[in-house]
Amino acid sequence: MNSWPRLWVNLQLSRKQRPKGRPAIQLQVKTILNCVQHFVGFVYREVHIVRCQGRPESIEIGVEPHGGIRGRCWQCRRPAPGYDRLPERRWLFVPLWGIPTYFCYAPRRVECAEHGVVVEHIPWSDGKRPVTRAMMAFLARWARRLSWRETARVFLTSWEAVYRSVEWFVQWGLEHRQLGGVESIGVDEIHWGRGLRADNFLTVIYQIDAGCRRLLWVGKRRSQATLRRGLKVLGPEVVQGIRFVCSDMWKPYLQVIAVQVGQALHVLDRFHITSHLNQAVDQVRRAESTRLRSISQKAAHRLKHMRWPLLRRLSRVRGRARQKLNALLASKLATARAWELKETFGYFWHYKSVFWAGGFLDYWCFRALRSRLEPMKKVARMLRTHEPLLLNWFRAKGEISSGAVEGLNNKIRVVTRRSYGFRTFEAMEIALYHNLGRLPEPETTHRFC
Ligand SMILES: [Zn+2]
Repeated sequence: MNSWPRLWVNLQLSRKQRPKGRPAIQLQVKTILNCVQHFVGFVYREVHIVRCQGRPESIEIGVEPHGGIRGRCWQCRRPAPGYDRLPERRWLFVPLWGIPTYFCYAPRRVECAEHGVVVEHIPWSDGKRPVTRAMMAFLARWARRLSWRETARVFLTSWEAVYRSVEWFVQWGLEHRQLGGVESIGVDEIHWGRGLRADNFLTVIYQIDAGCRRLLWVGKRRSQATLRRGLKVLGPEVVQGIRFVCSDMWKPYLQVIAVQVGQALHVLDRFHITSHLNQAVDQVRRAESTRLRSISQKAAHRLKHMRWPLLRRLSRVRGRARQKLNALLASKLATARAWELKETFGYFWHYKSVFWAGGFLDYWCFRALRSRLEPMKKVARMLRTHEPLLLNWFRAKGEISSGAVEGLNNKIRVVTRRSYGFRTFEAMEIALYHNLGRLPEPETTHRFC
């Protein structure tokens, strides 16, 4: 239904409801400010527009101390007698009607019995920052939905201001977050930036409990030292409470987890093993493609454009790709055999008993090792080495979700790819905590968005 007529009726009603004989109260900016951002001990004075060639350039909101209320020491927050006043300062506030808006206030200095002559506590400000807390929270919340550059552009400020705001928001959240009740964690490596240097990898620790999935920690590199640092940040209490750890077969992680989180059941997760198998199939395909091309173009044609159909689960390949895949599988190509091994391994995850799953694993490895496909043999050897950890998957069945780590990894990728203009690790670290950390947020008197 078209909602315009109803809106019109509502407008007419509200006009009728107004008591007769009284003029409409003029809504002032000050009234709104007192509603949403009232600070005890301070009053709003004049609000005026600064114009430049007739166009509004900024809105300045004058603030004065309340005559009857003493200023408070910024350190202990106790009222103290006034000493003198400092020159006027400006704080950026949430823009009104697309016009940059500032609070203007000359801070008092007070004489605290304990701390001497100090600047008073200013409730809308945080230290020496030139942006109000309301504006920092406003920018930080928008920076989750838009890129930092866009946030800066839309709300008429600089990238730097957005960065500092998010940083403040995240720091507050990290200081106030609760780490109790962490039972399952996922440890993973993430590739970042270009190249394969040690610095291009990050180690991440997730909480993957059913009720709470979030990023707990992120650090540079993927060495033993990195993971040890991360576990140290979480603290011994959290580490001792962990019951399940989910990770990749990356050796440094396995070693640290065995030593530091020995009490937990360590599981190699499905997502990583599937990706190792997929990589092996892809290696076989590429090698074969090169070999066939050196013989004839026609033979090589069968492998053309087959990368994704081969890596996908069979049930997800449809249409022409499926026809081509079927033709390929009917051939005696090495790629077809590698694919068949990969697809067979999928049954492994359906077992209920550890014993039968172990039997299947032995059978699969036996076949893979006899396949004369070097990449597949490599995977089989790797799986054999880690057999106990692989079988832990069945011991932990139902307790940890197979998709949790994968899901969080995908979200990280979205954050790192969205162009935030990250040049430094620090900026990206903040963005990751901001988007995936589920951090508590600093209290503000009013939520502007
Ligand atoms: Zn004090």
